[in-house]
Amino acid sequence: MCGIVGYVGKHPVTRVLIEGLRRLEYRGYDSAGVTVVKDGQFQTLKSTERVEALAKDVAKAKLQGTYGIAHTRWATHGGVTLANAHPHHSSDGLFSLAHNGVIENYLKIKKFLLEKGYTFQSETDTEVLVNLIAYHYQKQPVAADKNRFLESVRRSLRHVEGTYGIAVICKEHLGEIVAARRGSPLILGVGDGEHIIASDVAAIALHTQSVVYLNDEEIVHVTDKDFSLSTIDEDDIEAVIHTVDWSIEEAELGAFKHYMEKEIFDQPVALENAMRGRFSDDGSTSKFGGLNLSPQELRQVDRILFCACGTAWHACLVAEYLIERYARIPVEVEYASEFRYRNAPLDKNTLVFILSQSGETIDTLGALREAKRKGHKTLAIVNVVGSTIAREADGGIYQHAGPEIGVASTKAFTSQVMVAAMMALHLGRIRDMSYSEGQAFVEALKQVPAQVQSILDQSEAIKAIALKYVDAEDFLFLGRQNLFPIALEGALKLKEVSYIHAEGYPAAEMKHGPIALISPECPSVFLVAQEDTYQKTISNIQEVKARKGRVIAIAHEGGDFPKDLVDDLILIPECHPAVQPILATIPVQLMAYAIAAARGCDVDKPRNLAKSVTVE
Ligand code: GLU
Repeated sequence: MCGIVGYVGKHPVTRVLIEGLRRLEYRGYDSAGVTVVKDGQFQTLKSTERVEALAKDVAKAKLQGTYGIAHTRWATHGGVTLANAHPHHSSDGLFSLAHNGVIENYLKIKKFLLEKGYTFQSETDTEVLVNLIAYHYQKQPVAADKNRFLESVRRSLRHVEGTYGIAVICKEHLGEIVAARRGSPLILGVGDGEHIIASDVAAIALHTQSVVYLNDEEIVHVTDKDFSLSTIDEDDIEAVIHTVDWSIEEAELGAFKHYMEKEIFDQPVALENAMRGRFSDDGSTSKFGGLNLSPQELRQVDRILFCACGTAWHACLVAEYLIERYARIPVEVEYASEFRYRNAPLDKNTLVFILSQSGETIDTLGALREAKRKGHKTLAIVNVVGSTIAREADGGIYQHAGPEIGVASTKAFTSQVMVAAMMALHLGRIRDMSYSEGQAFVEALKQVPAQVQSILDQSEAIKAIALKYVDAEDFLFLGRQNLFPIALEGALKLKEVSYIHAEGYPAAEMKHGPIALISPECPSVFLVAQEDTYQKTISNIQEVKARKGRVIAIAHEGGDFPKDLVDDLILIPECHPAVQPILATIPVQLMAYAIAAARGCDVDKPRNLAKSVTVE
């Protein structure tokens, strides 16, 4: 949440900052702002609209400078106003700061600073931090060495509770940027005669592939030619420069209208990438390079706990069904935000799995740290390479789904489910799953990209069905067994992007409450499994039809599904039961997208939401 960019170097600074904001806008888009320095003065422009509006204002004002900082906001403290937009200046006018995170003790610090005569223009916690820096700056002797700026940021951060990724500039230290992090991500791009600070690689990749990932409590002092890394406690640190393999092209929209649409259509490739090089030579199991656990250690695992938030939590629920069925290991799924505070008793042989597309989700990161603190082995399934969760987990599996820009997760979800299915296979094969069952499983996984493509090939027909329901204000999504998490995911996708109220339930649970909602105005989407619960789900559909509810069924080809029973039928390929959650997801994604686009919603940047949730 919230994107920060800072740049000092040879290129026109406003262009670099605005381009950076464009690429980070998915992280927050309540308002945006920029401060550049020209002739020793701050030039600041802010907008309560999107980055594009800010870009126009910047061009109109011919804003220029030699270096600067910029921010795209997801408000936590204070409404969406110009006064609350970042960057914030200290009341003595010496400092300008962009911040991602929450300063939890800001009221206490604010009271202290008010007593010292500092004044405030905004309701934000951020403005308190920039004034605290000004306070510590003034407290140091004027003759203090060149580190006075860096030192004042350091001293301030020692008093701060909460989270921050910050970029700060100072009028008395021209050409310098100080940046630091705790809890919120921050990366330094190292170029030739230029440096760029950003919340994620997306804003850096245009300039350089050499990056330094800041760790918590690290602070970096940057000029165009140089940088030095240390901790907020003053220890110098040897910076490790990583090379990022991040393709700008993959993050381009191309012929698609929205990233969500593009990313739905990216899925065959993303799923292929999740599997690439990960099957054993005999084709009977999966293998992962980064688990850092031997088969013997994995054999000792007698319980698995999955932690995640949002869509990734739904992927964990699918993992629960798959691992319990195919590997016979008890699995529990927790919301990361609940797990980290509830001190759950965990057996010593519990393996903790963490899922996060961005690898920065703060609650998930908190759960990971809590599990590690308790001595558990942790594994992460993460999409963004080099992200904090990827670096801190004991081992992990990268999804390789490519950049996901749309705020509503699509390809990252199905690729998480794919990795979970491969994990179920892996764990199953070191326990009771036979060689031939393993081979059948591998074959089923390999067919998924083509099967997903065949559903995408029906996208026009699915869209036409979805548009019949565009005026509905309530939806139910119902499914059993491993399609129950897809019911939850279908409901979440629809409400995120179209603002239609939707709920997901296990189909049989409908009788225990949700059935009261059934009416011609509240359509139900039924996800019909091809085995076990097939007839039972059809009975649930009968129950809805008996109450004049409209039904869209997603069922498998090749069965005897009673087409006339439902209002609309979407057929997906026959498949191995382990992969039906992936296939069933595609139509619900396409429906959510079509309905939201038809309702004129801002599909890629739904109201109130942001991606990479770095706020607790
Ligand atoms: N807490 C700050 C604010 O509300 C920063 C929020 C963010 O991370 O964008 O302005």
